[in-house]
Amino acid sequence: MEILICIMLFLLGICLGSFYACIGYRIPNKISTIKPNSFCPNCNEPLKWYMNIPLFSYIYLKGKCAYCNEKISIFYFLTELLTGIFFTLSYIYFSLSLEFFISLILISALNITIVTDLRYYYISDRVIIISIIAELIVYLFYINYKDIIYFIASALTMFLLMLGIKYIGDKVFKRESLGGGDVKLMLLVGLTLGIIDGITSLLISSTLGLIFSIILIKKNEEKIIPFGPFLLIGTIIMFLLSYNGINIV
Ligand SMILES: [Zn+2]
Repeated sequence: MEILICIMLFLLGICLGSFYACIGYRIPNKISTIKPNSFCPNCNEPLKWYMNIPLFSYIYLKGKCAYCNEKISIFYFLTELLTGIFFTLSYIYFSLSLEFFISLILISALNITIVTDLRYYYISDRVIIISIIAELIVYLFYINYKDIIYFIASALTMFLLMLGIKYIGDKVFKRESLGGGDVKLMLLVGLTLGIIDGITSLLISSTLGLIFSIILIKKNEEKIIPFGPFLLIGTIIMFLLSYNGINIV
């Protein structure tokens, strides 16, 4: 039974991963997420059903479009595979619990944000809103109203805190220091972790972001750092640490 659930979750993960990679491309390019059906971004040719099977199609087509031979980004394959793997690992680690459902939401938000923020420097409001609503629904099933109010208050506090940091950063650096999406993403961070862990996760994210930007500067590459993925990775790290009762501050 457990193995069957794991297989089902892996399949769900690769299908959703395929969908996330697709909307991660569509939302920033202002293409509807429902219509048209999948197409090649190079030659715009609509894909047949067998060119659209997660993991399998990429291998079958040898990573190339069947019409124009343009290389298909390995990103699609990896997003599918990793979503499948992480969905399964979440179940093995948390079993059917509050943490399991929260981790599915965080993995999903991270996957889409990696695609949109890394490629287009864009974090979708829709992704943040849907993640927040999904998390609130999960909370309604697992925790009491008092705690839900605490997490909502934490979400708003983290949002205002980040807004303050952005305001000061913009004045000091005389340019946009943080994107609006990063500020809004704090709603999800606060809602997931509460205030104390939320602030700790912000420290983890900033450290990771800083290391990444030093590497980029050393390589003389572009200086805009997509911070969204780091915010979510920091949140997931803090989520795991607090689940295991590990305090780092
Ligand atoms: Zn093509």
